[in-house]
Amino acid sequence: MAEYDIVIIGAGPAGLTAGLYAARANMSAILFEQKGPGGELLNTDLIEDWPGEESITGFDLAEKMRAHAEKFGLRIEVKGVARVRSEGDRKIVELEDGTTHSAYAVVVAVGGEPIKLEVPGEQEYHGRGVSYCAVCDGAFFRNMDLAVVGGGDSAFQEGLFLTRFAKKLYVVHRRREFRAQAILQDRLLSMEKVEPITPAVVKRIGGNGEVKWIEIERDGTPERVAVDGVFIFVGFRPVGRHLFAEHIDHDPDGYLITDQYMRTNIPGVYAVGDTRAQLAKQITTAVGDATTAVLHAVRYIEELKHAEKAFPAAPREAVAETVNRMEPVRAMAGQTIMRQGDEPDAFYLVVRGRVAVYRVGADGEEREVNRLGPGEFFGEIGLLSGAARIATVRAVEPSELLRLDEEAFRKLVSSSSATREQLEAVARERQAASSR
Ligand code: NAP
Repeated sequence: MAEYDIVIIGAGPAGLTAGLYAARANMSAILFEQKGPGGELLNTDLIEDWPGEESITGFDLAEKMRAHAEKFGLRIEVKGVARVRSEGDRKIVELEDGTTHSAYAVVVAVGGEPIKLEVPGEQEYHGRGVSYCAVCDGAFFRNMDLAVVGGGDSAFQEGLFLTRFAKKLYVVHRRREFRAQAILQDRLLSMEKVEPITPAVVKRIGGNGEVKWIEIERDGTPERVAVDGVFIFVGFRPVGRHLFAEHIDHDPDGYLITDQYMRTNIPGVYAVGDTRAQLAKQITTAVGDATTAVLHAVRYIEELKHAEKAFPAAPREAVAETVNRMEPVRAMAGQTIMRQGDEPDAFYLVVRGRVAVYRVGADGEEREVNRLGPGEFFGEIGLLSGAARIATVRAVEPSELLRLDEEAFRKLVSSSSATREQLEAVARERQAASSR
């Protein structure tokens, strides 16, 4: 089984950006993609909302993103992922070819698939006049009458592409108002060859082996519209959740739910781009998601390694869960992190820098009793005893710590009897040393 820091699934703009950032962070990373780099970009003719490129074809932008990520060392393999499952602190990625790969973190950037109209004739004529991609199939319909179905950005953008080939283009939409961006509406609907048919519902697609007509219902009246091709853009269904053996949180439409760092509920699993629940499905947001996810994943992996050293007896999945719940805290040199006499409410793991532990003795004088560095922890005595803090901790140099709240600490303690014993032994030893 090959081992990586990060496995990225999907090579659209989100996946390629995740790959670029992972490679630049010197992570051992691999990207698996089912079809070939580009994702939705390859189904898009012209992109006009990617900053810095007034107008670029989807193909060219995909190519640039792929080349850029590979230049920094990203490995891309065109292989389908069948399943992802957790094993301890690792994610096991099973490929369709039967091989398995393990990683500390997985970035899910798989986007989705077009929603079908689910009308008679749609499946039968798929590839014979029914299409879900104008860029892929438009050129087969030179000088023919076509219909796009849908009122969103995709229908309008793809419709604009189809006007290069179509003799006549109908825009069939179930409501009178379109939801596409105004600029796209203005461009498409102002063309002479374009005719909107609204509010109209497609009931059936038919022909003679090739599409020849669609049957629609407008204001309750059925009508037959002669067309040679139907391009369907009625939305998009995310597919990320189907990859997971265990439960992954998603909204009612199947979009994966994340926090601000793109973390899903499974520690070490991040969701980015169109498969994630969010307001916009844009290249710019997908790229932003991926950046955040990888920057966080890099930190998560480093923290996980520290935590595993600190709690060797804890089950690996409990450590991953603990790290997922830890909040980063920065302390300047001299800054107090914990104060003697305070109520205990948190536990800390040192990631970078150094802290010193002080106790006020019977003479009222404060003395340094210990120094702690990366991989060492403090704060367990108060949480285990329930009594006030018996020491003050201050950073002796700029330091980074991870803070675990009381509830998460109790979960870690109860993850195994060996973990409890380890923490209690450390607490006992420290108490004895500081009272000497
Ligand atoms: P969308 O925005 O969800 O629009 C789907 C359209 O199909 C809507 O007009 C909807 O009608 C209609 N529809 C849904 N189910 C239908 C059904 N069963 N029968 C008939 N019509 C149906 O999907 P999209 O256009 O594929 O876009 C997906 C996302 O990608 C959006 O967030 C979009 O902004 C983004 N995108 C952006 C660009 C860009 O240029 N920046 C390009 C493409 C896509 P209602 O309006 O009545 O709901």
